[in-house]
Amino acid sequence: MLNLREIHKPTTLAEALKLLQRPGTVALAGGTALNAASPDDVTAVVDLSALDLAYIRESSGAIAIGATTKLVELVASPILRAMANGVVSQAAHRSTSSILRNQASVAGTLISEPDGVLAVALLALDAHVTIVRKESRTHSLADFLAMCEHLLMMALVTEVTLPITNPHASLHTVARTPSNKPIVSVVASTQILRSAQNDNVAHNVRIALGGVGETAVRTSAAEKILEAQSLNDVLIEKAASVAAEGLSPVGDFRGSAEYRKEMTVVLARRAVKELVA
Ligand SMILES: Cc1cc2nc3c(=O)[nH]c(=O)nc-3n(C[C@H](O)[C@H](O)[C@H](O)COP(=O)(O)OP(=O)(O)OC[C@H]3O[C@@H](n4cnc5c(N)ncnc54)[C@H](O)[C@@H]3O)c2cc1C
Repeated sequence: MLNLREIHKPTTLAEALKLLQRPGTVALAGGTALNAASPDDVTAVVDLSALDLAYIRESSGAIAIGATTKLVELVASPILRAMANGVVSQAAHRSTSSILRNQASVAGTLISEPDGVLAVALLALDAHVTIVRKESRTHSLADFLAMCEHLLMMALVTEVTLPITNPHASLHTVARTPSNKPIVSVVASTQILRSAQNDNVAHNVRIALGGVGETAVRTSAAEKILEAQSLNDVLIEKAASVAAEGLSPVGDFRGSAEYRKEMTVVLARRAVKELVA
């Protein structure tokens, strides 16, 4: 950041928000995306590390993850590893390399990688994001991802929350190597309940996709086919076949648009099959 003149390290949220009102001032969490992007118009940064926003805890029926919590802490957290088959911890692990996981924060990752595997896992688990400007507001992650730039004008993400419903969940990705950033990722989640006929019926089916658009998205067409059904191979095949419907991914050197759509079908099939298993 060639024009950087000031680094502030406030100890209160009020102080941080006041500093962010100044022109050319942005929030700094792990700094990995910000330093790599090195924007010319940034003249001051507000280091969030003294705001006490690094935590993972259970409170009021939810799991609360502080905005500056590092990815490495998500990977290791016993709370997250025990929830929804540990897909949030797995997603944090697959997000990026170990060096960056030690530095990158949960909020910084959602903001800089809105179609990344962490956003996908949190979307599948119905996460919400709390943003503070003059007052504190909580948005669904889908709304946050869609309106991130607008919502974050002179504002801060303080927390990400997950309902403690502990669904079955599974995560599948495809990448050039296991430690590489996923090209396409899919996370499926559902509550399996026993019906009066003794069938295992899937409720609240959520299938989130990454690497196929600007942000993580859900595939409502596939979800509808599976909702309130006893899952079997025929149904899973039908749902997987429509998982890429309506998507217009942009291809790049890691995977063409066609490859991304094809992988969406393959990974959705695998993810839902694993839910049944
Ligand atoms: C060399 C390199 C390789 C990478 N490889 C991968 C990869 O393989 N896979 C992958 O997914 N990603 C990769 N990344 C991106 C990486 O995931 C991000 O750099 C990281 O997650 C950003 O987190 P951070 O905490 O460092 O954010 P920062 O860089 O601190 O911030 C990122 C953005 O979010 C804003 N921000 C941060 N916290 C808040 C908050 N609480 N409230 C409001 N705004 C906030 C900042 O102002 C900034 O605009 C790579 C990055 C680098 C530099």
